[in-house]
Amino acid sequence: MRRDISTATVDGNALAGVMADVVDGDITLLIATCAGCGEAAPLAEAVVEIDETAAIVRCRSCTHTLMTVLADPGGVRMVFGALRELRRP
Ligand SMILES: [Zn+2]
Repeated sequence: MRRDISTATVDGNALAGVMADVVDGDITLLIATCAGCGEAAPLAEAVVEIDETAAIVRCRSCTHTLMTVLADPGGVRMVFGALRELRRP
């Protein structure tokens, strides 16, 4: 049986609500899936190389860079690498 699904195209402001369901609270509890090897584990279990300007987050299983958090005079930003998915457990 076919379900009727309505889809709307809106601007990015619509993300505020749906993304809050994922990223509110302690993000280290989120399950990160690595695009390199498929491993899914809490961010708290990732390997992090950190100094004053960057935190490089690596997959504990295959060492691919999942993402990098950069802090510079322009502010803080996240650069995504092999992070395929983040989900709330
Ligand atoms: Zn991996």
